Amino acid sequence: MKEMTINAAVPVDMPPPFEGRHLIDGAWKASADGAMFERMSPSHGVVVSRSALGGVPEAQAAIGAAKRAFAAGAWSRISGQQRAGILLRVAELIESNVERIALLETLESGKPISQSRGEVSGAADLWRYAASLARSTHGDSHNTLGDDMLGVVLKEPIGVVSIITPWNFPFWILSQKLPFALAAGCTVVVKPSEMTPSSTVMMGELLMEAGLPAGVCNIVLGHGQPVGSTLSTHEDVDMVTFTGSTAVGKMITQAASGTLKKVALELGGKNAQVIFPDANLEDAADAVVFGVYFNVGQCCNSSSRILVHEDIADSFVERIVALSRDVAFGDPLDPETQVGAIVTPEHNSKIHAYVADAAAAGAVVVLGGAPMDVPGLGDQFYQPTIISGVTADMPIAREEVFGPVLVVQTFRTLPEAIELTNATEFGLSAGVWSENVHTCLAFAKAAQTGTVWTNTWMDGYPELAFGGMKQSGQGREIGHYGFEEFLEVKSVVMRIGRTRTSWVKTRDET
Ligand code: NAD
Repeated sequence: MKEMTINAAVPVDMPPPFEGRHLIDGAWKASADGAMFERMSPSHGVVVSRSALGGVPEAQAAIGAAKRAFAAGAWSRISGQQRAGILLRVAELIESNVERIALLETLESGKPISQSRGEVSGAADLWRYAASLARSTHGDSHNTLGDDMLGVVLKEPIGVVSIITPWNFPFWILSQKLPFALAAGCTVVVKPSEMTPSSTVMMGELLMEAGLPAGVCNIVLGHGQPVGSTLSTHEDVDMVTFTGSTAVGKMITQAASGTLKKVALELGGKNAQVIFPDANLEDAADAVVFGVYFNVGQCCNSSSRILVHEDIADSFVERIVALSRDVAFGDPLDPETQVGAIVTPEHNSKIHAYVADAAAAGAVVVLGGAPMDVPGLGDQFYQPTIISGVTADMPIAREEVFGPVLVVQTFRTLPEAIELTNATEFGLSAGVWSENVHTCLAFAKAAQTGTVWTNTWMDGYPELAFGGMKQSGQGREIGHYGFEEFLEVKSVVMRIGRTRTSWVKTRDET
């Protein structure tokens, strides 16, 4: 069988480490105690960024700045047209800085440079879409409450929002939240992952260049404890929007309950693509290898499981194994590479533990199945891996592996496929491949997931809502539904004239 091609290290002039500071009240600041942290590239073994290491004082200062900026009204009370103008300017600036941001994104995360470029340039559209929402925010009016009454429902910005983001799509996920919060008129404090802080700092630079008033967007760099936890507990924060693991999402929900702040969560997934025999199998196979290897499998929407009809299982697995051997694997800085490095050595070991556990339980590793060295780049890589003979009780079939590892299960009937799809604690996304519209519609209605793709995978649009059911999250992002999360609703009830009789009867009348 054909050997996998490995893209060895491409010669590159490494940029000097990016220096990141906190953005608080419109100024770039070091930590009060001068503490810093470094990020090593997962693939190139060099320090790629040095960032201020924030703590409780920096988080509190940022929250204070956001609260003052919200109260001052220079963002929260200006017109939608003015807000939209700044958001559109940010979109332009993103587009003119794609290369710079994408390079650091790849150096910090290990993802292929072509995917970083797509992530950054694609994010500009989220800012443009949010700008359109800034101008169309409206509540509604009620003219049928009685001849002398008028009711108006106002939409108002919720206030100060904490934004906590993960390492796997730092720039994209920030752009799923930040422009929507800003479009609503909120002020924010952002905490990026400690593994990938730099593209968020670059976003801060673009916001300042675009003319966002001081204190409207603040950024604090550092760890979940204590920065993220302060952003989740502080009484002056009105809402936390978090993307990350289900375990941390639960901690944030508990931390936020002390002040009953609103919490929106985008969490993990164990997403299945279901392949029926009447599907276009060429398209389905292509979507399967894209779905599992995109972002090195470190993607909440990874299709880390496929459910294949028994009649075609063997031939379909052969097809995806052959396609997987053609996937360009290796140096993330090579523009041809499709599968890059794993984010940390610990995470690489965790991926392998799932694979080894499944193999020990009787599953068959039909491709890959081990960490590997890429010449000149070290061993923080994991082979594209396909495992068949997996049963629903194995952890690898139910838990998020977050690596380039595909699990194959089989089914005989549509009800069985639906049952297997839903047999996890997660409910982020699912997909169905069939030329029969009835099969697709029945599946779409029965899947317990926030997104269902039929005859496609991972297409996303700013207009649509994104989010998860069950333990994949709460609330929605992007689209009209995501925007509404950042708005409070206020009913104003108005009486016209003096037509109401007194509630308190006078003594003379009784
Ligand atoms: P993580 O939960 O470890 O960390 C996410 C963020 O939370 C980081 O900024 C981290 O510093 C912070 N954090 C950690 N502990 C905290 C605490 N106690 N209080 C507040 N903040 C805290 O997740 P990760 O490893 O960065 O990202 C991978 C996870 O994210 C996967 O589970 C993946 O499925 C999920 N994810 C979900 C989506 C989605 O849209 N549903 C998108 C991308 C990633």
